[in-house]
Amino acid sequence: MTASPDEAYVLCEDVFKIHKTDELEVVALRGLDLAVAPGEVMAIVGASGSGKSTLLNILAGLDQPSAGRVRVGARDLLTMTEYELTDYRRAEVGFVWQQTGRNLIPYLTALENVEVPQLIEGISRQEASARAADLLEQVGLGDKFDHRSHQLSGGEQQRVAIAVALANTPPLLLADEPTGELDSATATEVFAAIHQLNEATGVTVIIVSHDRAITQRVDRVVTMRDGRTSAELVRPRSFRRDRIQEMREFALVDRSGRMQIPREFTDRLGIHGRARLELHGDHVEIRPGDADDEAGA
Ligand code: ADP
Ligand code: MG
Repeated sequence: MTASPDEAYVLCEDVFKIHKTDELEVVALRGLDLAVAPGEVMAIVGASGSGKSTLLNILAGLDQPSAGRVRVGARDLLTMTEYELTDYRRAEVGFVWQQTGRNLIPYLTALENVEVPQLIEGISRQEASARAADLLEQVGLGDKFDHRSHQLSGGEQQRVAIAVALANTPPLLLADEPTGELDSATATEVFAAIHQLNEATGVTVIIVSHDRAITQRVDRVVTMRDGRTSAELVRPRSFRRDRIQEMREFALVDRSGRMQIPREFTDRLGIHGRARLELHGDHVEIRPGDADDEAGA
């Protein structure tokens, strides 16, 4: 389900982010494109250093891009003032961190943790409490209201964290490796909670993940490489809900016609520097373009 730019809830076009430190500049995003449909649950994968966290921090309003276009709903994240960014972070996004300890206030119970963001918004204690209870029920923690962090497993803490992130019903949920510290069975419970809340509220979900099973857990997985989106795995729509279709993999082609050839292909065929492209009816062939080609016929 790749959204067209008009339909997209989250739209990144040609985004650059340069991290400046004292000694050097690191280009973390270099011409990144991404469109996410409203209500979609999708994942971003990629090697360490490929720019995943940089992208998520920009979408969370915690950091601003250096160039390009980033739109979330009706908001343009490049031109927002500090005040508008604060408002955006408060109203539009919920965020779940990988470190379970970073998401919750340890001396508060699960219920109180989900109440806090609502109380800050001025919602009455009674209303906040009712909504917190409802959210915890939905993530399967109806029997853990009074538990504090140390009385919850890692997976349970992450499910509370999801409830906290959605306490004020933001339309967008961002999670940076939410199951990175969890085993596979526990990660399955966390994803079940995410899907439950997605179905109940229509919240759009973007998850950064290292989880090998991620392709079983979402309907679209975008791969990042060197600060750009390079490939996408999509599950074809099936009319039978009981049949889980295999994902299909696509390379992403940007507006300038650029795409990334997987490194294993370029290494295997020795494609470096230049390649020869030939159009054959309905497909294109790519071959190594070495010097012999020029000398030959
Ligand atoms: P990922 O989450 O995919 O591992 P990151 O977005 O964290 O990737 O990092 C992308 C690149 O940007 C890396 O080379 C990283 O070292 C660099 N980087 C990230 N954050 C900063 C920062 N605050 N200052 C300087 N460099 C950074
Ligand atoms: Mg990261």
